[in-house]
Order: sequence, then structure tokens, then C-alpha cells
Amino acid sequence: MTSTTARLIETEHRLGAHNYKPLDVVLSRGEGVHVWDVDGNRYLDCLSAYSAVNQGHCHPKILAAMVEQAQKLTLTSRAFRNDQLAHFYEEIAALTGSHKVLPMNSGAEAVETAIKAVRKWGYEVKGVARDKAEIIVCNDNFHGRTMGIVGFSTDPDAREGFGPFAPGFRHVPFGDIDAFRAAINENTVAFLIEPIQGEAGVLIPPAGYFAAVRELCTSHGITLILDEIQTGLGRTGRLLAEGHEGIEADVTLVGKALSGGFYPVSAVLSNTEVLGVLKPGQHGSTFGGNPLACAIARAALRVLTEEDMIGNSARMGERFQKGLSEIRSNIVREVRGRGLMLAVELDPAAGGARKYCEALKARGILAKDTHGDTIRIAPPLVITADQVDWALEQFETVLRD
Ligand SMILES: *Cc1c(COP(=O)(O)O)cnc(C)c1O
Repeated sequence: MTSTTARLIETEHRLGAHNYKPLDVVLSRGEGVHVWDVDGNRYLDCLSAYSAVNQGHCHPKILAAMVEQAQKLTLTSRAFRNDQLAHFYEEIAALTGSHKVLPMNSGAEAVETAIKAVRKWGYEVKGVARDKAEIIVCNDNFHGRTMGIVGFSTDPDAREGFGPFAPGFRHVPFGDIDAFRAAINENTVAFLIEPIQGEAGVLIPPAGYFAAVRELCTSHGITLILDEIQTGLGRTGRLLAEGHEGIEADVTLVGKALSGGFYPVSAVLSNTEVLGVLKPGQHGSTFGGNPLACAIARAALRVLTEEDMIGNSARMGERFQKGLSEIRSNIVREVRGRGLMLAVELDPAAGGARKYCEALKARGILAKDTHGDTIRIAPPLVITADQVDWALEQFETVLRD
């Protein structure tokens, strides 16, 4: 480690809250699938800021849209209108087939927004008794870090010491349709779920699970909320991960890659019945729907389709997953994923994924360990076949030694 790196890390440690434990690499530049540290070392980014930079680092067209808009108008608040919002609505609605859009900033805010909307929908449309609304969520969920959200997390690190929490949530195991059916009652307003549990280690539910969930939600008048903040916008090789399941959510949450990593932009996508319950003064955000965010999101969505990043995600994901599963190593327990949302689960006897991520870093790959024994692999969707093959060589060396 050079003295510049060491000095920056020491300063961060001294002045910053210690709510993260990052790898000791200090990045100063990014382009496409690559990032460079302050000493000029280049790395292949296999995290993509938790899928916020699906379009690749510093995508030139998103950058141009951002600079152009920043020179004209950045923020009006929703007290006035701006000339970008309507275009953003039109383009994201057409792309996703949604009828109503509510723009926010962070992913957690989109989740909180959906919770507010479905509760109100439950009282006003479904007829649930006042303050009795229940939302079913999954064990090992990850939906963000705000108070409302950590209150229904099952991860002790996320919730211990932060109570008291809001009531109104019921837990079921992810992928267990019988448990979901049994948890439904007359107060159930929504089922909030990730199509693939990302932070829990890229967990894919059994085939047919989501089709059955959709059917139960429809027959019981329950709003199906899919949190596609990580899985959405091409990550899994489809525009939305729901596409793999042949279903449509009632409420879809997107964030992260909605801006290609330039700016926090999130959105709740739904129909008139659910988002229609929110009236003036009942919800909002100073920055939500601002012209800079809208211009950036429009460009981020445009390049995703224009440059066939979703198709590339499907093709390169298949190549990457096949290559990983062909690595002969007695410490690999399972390789899984969809599109470019991949994970290698190691045998617990291997001593944890962190040291393998450190070894990958030394070979020019930045990947993140999750839940102890899993290496998560999620490069920008612009990755080429040669870059996948090079990455596979590094994984093979590290996992075999
Ligand atoms: C990242 C993430 C969130 C939270 O998004 P923030 O922008 O960090 O608030 C919510 N849900 C899922 C599935 C995520 O991956």
C-alpha cells in the first residue's frame, strides 16, 4: 500500500463513522467496466456499486445529458413544474408498461413510498380496518436502511439496537409458497419481495414460485410489490427480473441503475389504483423528480436499450456462469445466478469469501464477499467476451490455489 492510499484510509477511519468495512482500495477514476485506484492500478469492477453502474462507469452519453442539464436547471422542487419530468414519466412508463410513476431518490425511499401507498390503498380501496394493515415480507430480505425498513429486516446487524420498530409486518421464508399462503389474512395488503435475494447471497426461488405468488395475490386482492432495485434494468438479462417468471408485479421498485450511477434516482412504478391514493401533501421529497435527475435517468434508460446492454447481460452472464461452473476447485460449493447477477458459494471450510476477494483484488478484480462464504459477481452490463474470459482466468487461479 502506498503512502497516499494509507493516508486517505487513515483519515477516513479517524473522521468517518465506521458503518462500512470496504476493501482497502481507493478509487479515483472509472471508465466502462474498469476503475483505477490513486496509484494508477486498474481493476475490473465486479460489483458495479451493487448494480447502480449497470451502464458502465462514466457512460459518455449519460455524462453529456447530466452536464447539459446541469447548465440549464437542476432543482425546482415539486412546488413548481419542470420540463424534464413529463418526458421521464413517458419514457419509463412506455419501457416498463406502467401507468403511474412516483419519482424518489434512494432505493430505500422508493420502498418506504410503496409501503405508505399500499397501506393507504388497503384502507381506502380494500377496506382493511384502520391501522390493521399487514405487509408480508421475506426472511433474509434486503430493502434498505431506513427505520421503517430495518424494522422488518431479519438480519441482527441491521436491526439490533435500533428499536422500537413499526408494527404491521409478517415474515415468511423466501421461496416457500405454503408459508406465504398460510400468512395471508383479511388484513394483508401487500407482499414485498425481491425477485432474487441479492444481499442474502443471490438466492433464486424454485421454478413456479412467483407464478403461484402472483395467483395468490390476485385471488386475495393483495398488492405484489417487487423490489427490483438491484435485479431490475438489465442486471439479470431481462429488463426486469419478473420477465424470467412470466409475471407482472402490481408495484415495481427501481433505483440504482436508473441513473447509471451518476445520481440517486429511484421510482415507484404502479397502476392508478395504488398510486392514485396519494393526494397533494401526503407524500413527497425535495429532490424527487428534479430536472437533473430526470435528464440523467432518461439517458440512463436510453443507453440501456439503444446499446443492447440487456441482451449483452444475458449472453455474457451465460458465458460467465458456464466458465465459473467449469472451474475445478474443491472449495466451490455452488455457482448460481441469472444474467450478470452471479455468485460463487464457497465451502464454509474455505475460511470465508473475504480472503478470496482480497486475492482477486491483487489480480485486478474487485468483487465483494457477502454473507461470509459467497463471492458476488456483478460487472457492468457492457462487459465483453474477452473481458469475461480474462476474469474467468483470474477466478480459476484464485479458487484453485
Ligand atoms: C440497494 C437496495 C435497496 C436500497 O437502495 P438504497 O439506494 O441503498 O437506499 C433496496 N432494495 C434492494 C433490493 C437493494 O438492492
